[in-house]
Amino acid sequence: MSRLAAETGAINLSQGYPSFDPPQELTDRITWHLEHGANQYAPMPGVPGLLQVIADKTRRFQGRTLDVEREITVSTGATEGLFSAITAMVHRGDEVIVLDPAYDSYEPAIALAGGIPRHVPMLVDEDGEFHPDWQRIGDTINARTRLIVINFPHNPTGAILSGADLDTLADLVRDTDCYILADEVYEHIVFENEPHRSLVSHDELWERSLVISSFGKTVHATGWKLGYCAAPPALTTEFRKIHQFTTFAVSTPMQCGVADFLRDHMDWCANLPAFYEAKRDRFCELLDGSRFRFRPARSTFFQLLDYGAISDEADASVAERWTRDIGVASIPLTVFCNTPFTGTRLRFCFGKDDATLEEAARRLREL
Ligand code: PMP
Repeated sequence: MSRLAAETGAINLSQGYPSFDPPQELTDRITWHLEHGANQYAPMPGVPGLLQVIADKTRRFQGRTLDVEREITVSTGATEGLFSAITAMVHRGDEVIVLDPAYDSYEPAIALAGGIPRHVPMLVDEDGEFHPDWQRIGDTINARTRLIVINFPHNPTGAILSGADLDTLADLVRDTDCYILADEVYEHIVFENEPHRSLVSHDELWERSLVISSFGKTVHATGWKLGYCAAPPALTTEFRKIHQFTTFAVSTPMQCGVADFLRDHMDWCANLPAFYEAKRDRFCELLDGSRFRFRPARSTFFQLLDYGAISDEADASVAERWTRDIGVASIPLTVFCNTPFTGTRLRFCFGKDDATLEEAARRLREL
């Protein structure tokens, strides 16, 4: 959709990246490190300063003190973290539960590891909100289930987990050999004063979890591809067996710069929800009076819009047609689903400057 948007000159609200830059102080720190010798291989698990920042951040926001040496590994974005985790945990013939809609990088990694994906659709309530279907997840778990992949805050639906959700998941896996891979790249973008309930925060689940995050979302720099995996020592050991030979070490000046910035400005993370919530509210206000139905997203920088009152066309063709005809690109929900999905919802990224959101919403209101 980004390519189509570029070809047609459409406003691109499809791919998830901000239209604004990371803070100047952060880029200054990276430049400083580039000019002061941070140009050779970093240690395989990550530079000590960044590992410490991740530990401090996890203690502050999730209440767990991670072992800096044995429980954190810096990765080349979340994508490498997810790939290494799946490759480390899944063996030929193992079943892996994936909730639909799902981010697109899980499935190929599972297939490459010889795993068998078992897709469980999420439930949609009357308000159009998505929830994990714990009953069906429980029914799908069997002796061959090796891994459950979850992603909360959830792309594309903005769903978040409650404390009860975590307890239910703990009940489901208690007497099994399942591990959990938690993709938490939007950990600092949760709205309406809700906390992000990380798997790190849950004593019982933590023992069997690999938790993946990305600084791309947190510091407005998706192109830097800087992420990390937090996991208990035994799982970190497995993770590093793969990470060592896919990536080995992640960009040194980037790690040093992000470490400096977040060490001095940990409040940046605490302020991120308000920053994106204002963008969400602006986008939703601007859509007031449109024919789209929606519930403001609970998290992430994505808003789902239900176009059922405007068209009954399939979402993929609507998304393409509106990119060409009205000049606004979005992503159809079906591309996130392996199970049949017949909804009428498109995903729009509101991580954009006001002028872009205003013009996009003006065009959408005309439909
Ligand atoms: N997981 C989810 C749910 C995402 O939305 C993204 C980015 N679009 C990623 C993982 C990948 O993150 P990174 O760019 O750090 O590899």
